[in-house]
Amino acid sequence: MNFDLVQQVVEYSKKVFWGKRLTYNLTTNGSLLEDDIVDYLVQNNVSLMISLDGPKTIHDRNRRFGNGEGTYDVVMAKIQRIKERYPDYWKDIQYSMVMDPANDFEEICRVCKDQTIVPQNLMASIVDYDYDGTIAETSEEYIQNSEYSFFLALLARWKRYPEEKVPAISNLMVKNIFGQLYHIDMMGELNENDVPAGPCIPGAMRMFVDVDGHIFPCERVSEQSEAMRIGHIDSGFEMTKVQRLLEVGKLTEDVCKDCWCFRLCDQCAKKADSGEEDLSAEGRMRYCKYSRAQAYNKFREYILAHEVPVYYKEQIRKKEGGQDV
Ligand code: SF4
Ligand code: SF4
Repeated sequence: MNFDLVQQVVEYSKKVFWGKRLTYNLTTNGSLLEDDIVDYLVQNNVSLMISLDGPKTIHDRNRRFGNGEGTYDVVMAKIQRIKERYPDYWKDIQYSMVMDPANDFEEICRVCKDQTIVPQNLMASIVDYDYDGTIAETSEEYIQNSEYSFFLALLARWKRYPEEKVPAISNLMVKNIFGQLYHIDMMGELNENDVPAGPCIPGAMRMFVDVDGHIFPCERVSEQSEAMRIGHIDSGFEMTKVQRLLEVGKLTEDVCKDCWCFRLCDQCAKKADSGEEDLSAEGRMRYCKYSRAQAYNKFREYILAHEVPVYYKEQIRKKEGGQDV
């Protein structure tokens, strides 16, 4: 909405980091991607990530204009126009898909059949209810169809089922899981001083600034949260708050020390955000069950990835050229 500012940032960074190879990423709902804007993005190597939650029936439920009308048709028309004008640029556009498990997985996946997008570029995640304290409602159709589709994607990985018949989202899920399993192999012994999940390091990896100039550790936290508001562009960082975030693991240190999933824990700092100035140990503990379930799943996937090729050696087909997949 403030494209002048985007241009100023690009021009400023070119000046300040003269001689460096710069890359930019822009996440957008896509509704304002007019030709002149796209020209500028292409000329300046700005990678695009467009939010797309599924086919029209699903996307338009939550993504609407101020007048209540869904944005799907407008966004898809803009993407189609990019495809016609800049086919190479279009091929690299990523799509951020926030899946609501209350919907049927099969229906969500219908968007993969739309030729306007490259389905392999869909990055799917599940809707985040962290800040309203509820748990995502999950339909029976979502569970059954996503599990079945995952199973087909596994078969496709071992060449027992045609990959093109599996929704791209499930193929990607399997690819990501297998790509990350080496983390388990790489896990060494615990250090004398260690933290579960790696702390949030504000400003080092990423930083988020709202329209009023308040600084946050990232874009995933609530802009209403006192604990997460760690400074202002005029006055700089509030180091006490930054330190609290860095040391979020200390809130639950006694329990964490005895927890079997210490090294696979995926707790992000925002789980401890209760909206108050201080971070909360209770909030963190509430998420532990989920975090352990995630770790358990990783082990299950690790075993599957290692045992299937051993026990079903004969059944697994090879890629062309004879390599194992
Ligand atoms: S740990 Fe959580 S709050 Fe911190 S940067 Fe990562 S996602 Fe954001
Ligand atoms: S799951 Fe909970 S107790 Fe276990 S390491 Fe993570 S935060 Fe600590």
